[in-house]
Amino acid sequence: MRATRAIIHLGNLRENIRAIRAQVGQEVSVCLAVKADAYGHGAIEVAQVAIEEGVECLGVATLSEAVELRAAGIQSDLILLSLCIPEEIEDIVAYKVFPVVASAEMIEIFGQEGKRQGKQVTCHLKIDTGMGRIGCTPEEAVPLAEKIKNHGFLKLGGVCTHFPGSDLADTAFTLKQINIFNNIIDQIQAGGIDPGLIHAANSGAIINIKESYFNMVRPGISVYGYYPSKEIPNIIPLKPVMEFRTKVVFLKKVPKGTPLSYGMTYTTNEETWIATLPVGYGDGYNRLLSNRGKVAIRNRLYPVVGRVCMDQCLVNLGSRTDVNLYDDAVLFGPEPPALDADALADMIGTISYEVTCFVAKRVPRIYTED
Ligand SMILES: *Cc1c(COP(=O)(O)O)cnc(C)c1O
Repeated sequence: MRATRAIIHLGNLRENIRAIRAQVGQEVSVCLAVKADAYGHGAIEVAQVAIEEGVECLGVATLSEAVELRAAGIQSDLILLSLCIPEEIEDIVAYKVFPVVASAEMIEIFGQEGKRQGKQVTCHLKIDTGMGRIGCTPEEAVPLAEKIKNHGFLKLGGVCTHFPGSDLADTAFTLKQINIFNNIIDQIQAGGIDPGLIHAANSGAIINIKESYFNMVRPGISVYGYYPSKEIPNIIPLKPVMEFRTKVVFLKKVPKGTPLSYGMTYTTNEETWIATLPVGYGDGYNRLLSNRGKVAIRNRLYPVVGRVCMDQCLVNLGSRTDVNLYDDAVLFGPEPPALDADALADMIGTISYEVTCFVAKRVPRIYTED
């Protein structure tokens, strides 16, 4: 096995799912976002655990993600959260994936394809209440819901919206969206249409806004152990699921004044021990962590020095060290003193989502129930 690997702590994943379930209540269904290979954790393995934990539905972003899950034998409900192009519709219907629809044209072509394959297509109507990304307008919602309901080969499986600011301390914008969404749901029901699953809440809303739950929630980052932002109260216990590890593969003592790595951006200011780690930006350890990152070895944190290369980086162990060749080094993970993905994200101006998503395909995922 390669020295560099991502340990996926499935025990933590289970605890996070249970914590979210406890927060929203047993009556509310959960659609777990497993898009982007489950935020880098491995979609198939995460989906299997989610199903064992009673998650009702999985959220994907692309048809290929849905096909990968179906090929692995996963039969649970799958919602395609992003829009597709007409070429993909045949397979979406064939693989029994539930598309999100937002226009009369899309509804029309799904209806035609359902008829062609002799299958009823379950659609979720997406309404844009303030995200500004995809979705019909609030005014279009009721007629589109009727159109789905009245089509013999379509079924209205759900009605949904999305929140751009549910992880902000100020909840006013999200509450306004909820108000708009509630009005639409009322109108749909008043028209004698069953809206099916009503869903809006991402992790921020699950943690911050109880009024957002309806009858299904769509957690992503919280299941993987992180809060979507620092602005919302820490009310659910969450444990990071991914631990990014490598090993020391080279150890050397260098004199004061030694330049290190590409661009010679770091020069030693004393005689010091330098460890080489076989991990770099080609593995998803971001190059912006050059001269910034910190790596835990033998329960102590050491600075990354010099540029992070594609496949390797360097750590300064100081003038004396107890670190040995082939010792484990933790790039990020749940156990201090190792940094977590939030800390790395802060260093490079991004969010934990991107830090875990970026762990490259060539890094093997090792699954453990610990
Ligand atoms: C990814 C995604 C989510 C999950 O968001 P988190 O912030 O990770 O909880 C929910 N809904 C939709 C539509 C998404 O695309």
